[in-house]
Amino acid sequence: MSAILLNADLHSHSTVSDGVLTPSDLAIRAKRNGVELWALTDHDEVSGVAEARAAAADLCLPFVAGVEVSVTWAGKTVHIVGLQVDETNPQLLAGLANTRSGRERRARDMAQDLQQRAGIAGVYEGALKYVGNPDLISRSHFARYLAEIGAASSVSDAFKHFLTEGKPGYVPHRWANLNEAVSWIREAGGVAVIAHPGRYDLTPLAFDCFFREFKAFGGVAIETVTGSHTVDQYAEYAGIAARYGFLSSRGSDFHSPEDFEVDIGHLQALPRDSVPVWEHWRFD
Ligand code: AMP
Ligand code: MN
Ligand code: MN
Ligand code: MN
Repeated sequence: MSAILLNADLHSHSTVSDGVLTPSDLAIRAKRNGVELWALTDHDEVSGVAEARAAAADLCLPFVAGVEVSVTWAGKTVHIVGLQVDETNPQLLAGLANTRSGRERRARDMAQDLQQRAGIAGVYEGALKYVGNPDLISRSHFARYLAEIGAASSVSDAFKHFLTEGKPGYVPHRWANLNEAVSWIREAGGVAVIAHPGRYDLTPLAFDCFFREFKAFGGVAIETVTGSHTVDQYAEYAGIAARYGFLSSRGSDFHSPEDFEVDIGHLQALPRDSVPVWEHWRFD
């Protein structure tokens, strides 16, 4: 079988970041949904990888250790996925710890802003109920609590009215640099992938610089088929991958069965002319 038809899902989140399933339960869901190659890619954190690997081995589900690093590039937040990383690599671990370190302060500031600008009190404590890893409080946890109390009708509605630029609960934040994120991933033996490029609010000129800088730092792939892209964008980013010489990755970015998002393993195949990032990988 051609590698392109493998049901690879190389982007997903567990309770170690802002997903709602444990790494083991995520492995079970991936297997049930027909995934044939699975990566756990929690935000700024690899502490779920050992459990995920063991659960995947039990299920005979080929597994890839991953991470999704938060990056600030040209004043915007972008995400860089690392795949096939050695999750014990000291440089990677130190870089991720540093990237996580501002989240607690940011969360308290977000809650204060929600109180002052939207009159909603107690959101920090409320969001904590959804947090599986005290080191990783994210806007998703805030969104789940805002939906729970009826301040928003759903998680995605919470991101329309709160937590994003210009809205109550938004706090500007500086994450890792692009070159740092790519080098931590490479030092850990992994490959760096631009996550969901279609989500970034960049001009065509800025996109071109972003792709070229990422490549110059050693980045090799982009997510072509992701839960964040429309079908039209699959073709668009396959074209961009060809133009810049990037491999293509495929991942649902699954977080929760309750959110209206693409389920793990439920994605279209990569466009036929793409080169899968997993093409030359060896996995059991
Ligand atoms: P953070 O890293 O704390 O800034 O949180 C980012 C996370 O929020 C992303 O990984 C998504 O899981 C979630 N998120 C961001 N925007 C949206 C949106 N419009 N709808 C649903 N989830 C979102
Ligand atoms: Mn997330
Ligand atoms: Mn992301
Ligand atoms: Mn993600």
